[in-house]
Amino acid sequence: MVDLSGPIRALQRTADTVLPRHCQACEAPAGQLGLCAACICALPWNDCACTGCAQPLAQPGVCPDCARRAPPYDHAWAAFRLEAPIQHSIHALKYHADFTQAQLLGTLMAQQRQHLAPLPQVLLPVPLHPGRLRRRGYNQALELARAISKLLQLPVLSDAATRQRATEDQIGQTAAARRRNMRGAFTLRRPLTGLHVALIDDVMTTGATLAELARSCRRAGAAQIEVWAAARTP
Ligand SMILES: [Zn+2]
Ligand SMILES: [Zn+2]
Repeated sequence: MVDLSGPIRALQRTADTVLPRHCQACEAPAGQLGLCAACICALPWNDCACTGCAQPLAQPGVCPDCARRAPPYDHAWAAFRLEAPIQHSIHALKYHADFTQAQLLGTLMAQQRQHLAPLPQVLLPVPLHPGRLRRRGYNQALELARAISKLLQLPVLSDAATRQRATEDQIGQTAAARRRNMRGAFTLRRPLTGLHVALIDDVMTTGATLAELARSCRRAGAAQIEVWAAARTP
């Protein structure tokens, strides 16, 4: 008898890539997004975090930094802590143009935010410097914003802000140096008078970039500014 198990398995794998029927993490039947409910539940949700800057905390509340000086946005939220498997997902989106990760992360973010009242009126992805955008070919924050907007039906202001300074990755720099680096990094090309805005980014580190963008939005008239990031570093 001819052994068809190999070809059948191959077909099964193809079918799973088109429309995953099995959880990509554990083989259980998949729900939406190609993950099963248990694996979605086990993701590193950033449930206990500072309401000011989304920094993961041991207890709910405000972190010492935000208690000392309130950030220039009203509120920051990050869906996840930057840990496996979320950090792999973000890496694939950011460096390997894996847009299914934007769908996954954006949908999970939107599901968490959809019962929020009031929702922001517009989504504003953190822009990339034009040089970096040319090299990468896409802006991962915009891809996330698009996925979020699909579910929440919120407009994405994709070209409202421009970034005129190519700030290097600010890893290893002090908070004060990061702030100095970011000063004047963004220009708003349209007024945001009276708008409730959510700034969208993939990873929030110290928040220096988001803080500078928030200041620019405030100068452009935004009434309420929140930050939504897919993941937050500890
Ligand atoms: Zn699973
Ligand atoms: Zn804080």
